[in-house]
Amino acid sequence: METELFSDAGEPDLSGLLKRFFGYESFRPLQEEVIRDALAGHDTFVLMPTGGGKSLCYQLSALAMGGLTIVVSPLIALMKDQVDALQEAGVAATFLNSTLNAAEARRRLSGLYNGEYRLLYVAPERLLLPEMLERLVEWQPGLIAIDEAHCISEWGHDFRPEYRKIAELRDRFPETPLMALTATATERVRADIVSQLELRDPKRYVASFNRANLMYRVIPRSQPLRQVLDVARRHDGESGIVYCGTRAGTERLANRLIDQGIRAVPYHAGLDAGTRAKNQEAFIRDEVQVVCATIAFGMGIDKPDVRFVVHYDLPKNIEGYYQETGRAGRDGLPADCVLLFNASDVAKQIGFIEEKTDEHERTVARQLLQQMVHFAETSDCRRRSLLHYFSEAFSDKNCGACDNCLDPKETFDGTEAAQKFLSCLFRIHGKSGFGFGLNHVVEVLTGADTEAIRKWGHDQVSTHGIGNEFGRDEWKAIGRELMRLGHAQLTPGRMSVVELTQEGSDWLRSKEPLELTRPVVAKPKSRERRSRSERSGEIECDEMLFERLREMRQELASGRGVPAYMIFGDVALREMARDCPSTMASFGLISGVGEKKKTEYGKLFISEIAAYIEEKV
Ligand code: ADP
Ligand code: ZN
Repeated sequence: METELFSDAGEPDLSGLLKRFFGYESFRPLQEEVIRDALAGHDTFVLMPTGGGKSLCYQLSALAMGGLTIVVSPLIALMKDQVDALQEAGVAATFLNSTLNAAEARRRLSGLYNGEYRLLYVAPERLLLPEMLERLVEWQPGLIAIDEAHCISEWGHDFRPEYRKIAELRDRFPETPLMALTATATERVRADIVSQLELRDPKRYVASFNRANLMYRVIPRSQPLRQVLDVARRHDGESGIVYCGTRAGTERLANRLIDQGIRAVPYHAGLDAGTRAKNQEAFIRDEVQVVCATIAFGMGIDKPDVRFVVHYDLPKNIEGYYQETGRAGRDGLPADCVLLFNASDVAKQIGFIEEKTDEHERTVARQLLQQMVHFAETSDCRRRSLLHYFSEAFSDKNCGACDNCLDPKETFDGTEAAQKFLSCLFRIHGKSGFGFGLNHVVEVLTGADTEAIRKWGHDQVSTHGIGNEFGRDEWKAIGRELMRLGHAQLTPGRMSVVELTQEGSDWLRSKEPLELTRPVVAKPKSRERRSRSERSGEIECDEMLFERLREMRQELASGRGVPAYMIFGDVALREMARDCPSTMASFGLISGVGEKKKTEYGKLFISEIAAYIEEKV
């Protein structure tokens, strides 16, 4: 059997291994190149977005190489999940960590000495214990993979000092190739990983960060509970995460959802460890549909079938937003990302930022927030804006899966509005000798009578009260768009002040026409243009059969005490409900059906499908 997997030239048959163990027909982009490089003994640096298929890079390398591959992984919960999933696929994998009792740990160690395992998962602090290093010398690993490699960088969002010591492995095992993997997109962290790990002339593999199966929408937040319910009900029975800005917010929302009949749990760092683990487990095992979470929730989550991510509050920066939305749709099937946006969030967050004591930190946080607000308010393609942030070009004119491409924002002749706004900045500055915040400017435009306006004599300037055609929120949106266009800018400082730029005053003089986006202020439900069959990643199938197979999968999973997706993912079930395989051979062609699962579950699923067809006719 083993020999079939090697060609005459002695090259490992990677596609054969891929189908046999994982049930997949073809590699995702870059996977095969990474594996071939590792097999040739090179260090590799793998940057792929969440769901890109990083784990498979070292898992298949381990199978092709024989011997033992060490996987350094930061989270104990994740180790167990990965090892369970590998065992379900028939791969000899194990982990060592503090959750094992002494007898179990001994059993695993003796298995390792006997060469029974292809993969060993271990946390860095354990790996670097002297007795562990001695064992490693005996086991002679063929490859060392460092998962979540960004943990090594203090510039990353998840720095773990113990990751720093991993570099010692380089000296101990000079011959063993290292493979560093991460989904962190920022250049600074990438550079840090390569230098800290002392990677030797590594090949860098950078996959596209475009997640074609994710639909991005930004909706003005008007009735947030209703809006979350809408999304959750559209995804009836499917998993989702709602990110909230505060701990109390997660609990409040979870309770309200429960009142509305949605199974939901909160998750945040203030809950005790037991509750956190319990709520996370309930989500992974599909016992609850929705987790309402702060950003503390996420990295330990490998759940491939999260179908929606809602941001209830405005994220602090684009990187965070991208990582959080990225947890949807790892399996490649369509998933929805909805950001509920309200301009008042911006003021609230600026308030938090101003409380920071470090001036540099404040400046950075303000810049990051401004980019986030820009993303939320832009009328450009969301996908293009996101990718642009990560220095990746996206050249399609219409991505087909974001609100701005599906439902372009209305524009209007904003020449007059811009003139009013910008000359108001000019007048205020002329009167007082310095600028004021956006709120104040808008109050002047709309003719408000506030203490500050009286105190500074801004009821005397000619632009006081000339802007009654728009409400205050609309003016603020117009103001922010003019800042995006470069005609005005926020000057950093304790108070964020809006000022006219050189560009803005040039424009005022030029009197050129200017197109602006019509400000949307919590307009009622936007038209949902449904073009379902066009969604990237979609697999059309018999939905009733799919539901039935899902139920069967759930029962099997509960019986075995594993999450449902470890039996088969949704892609496999959908393909079954589309192709209706009736023989073991045709069942084996389904994506995600490897040798072991075919033998184990083939008959069951084939007869369930046959029964369904029988009943239907
Ligand atoms: P990452 O670690 O990069 O976030 P994973 O390794 O968890 O991504 O993979 C995401 C999903 O894609 C998993 O469900 C995995 O089984 C699946 N997958 C990986 N490689 C392939 C492939 N070549 N073909 C089909 N599915 C794949
Ligand atoms: Zn788009």
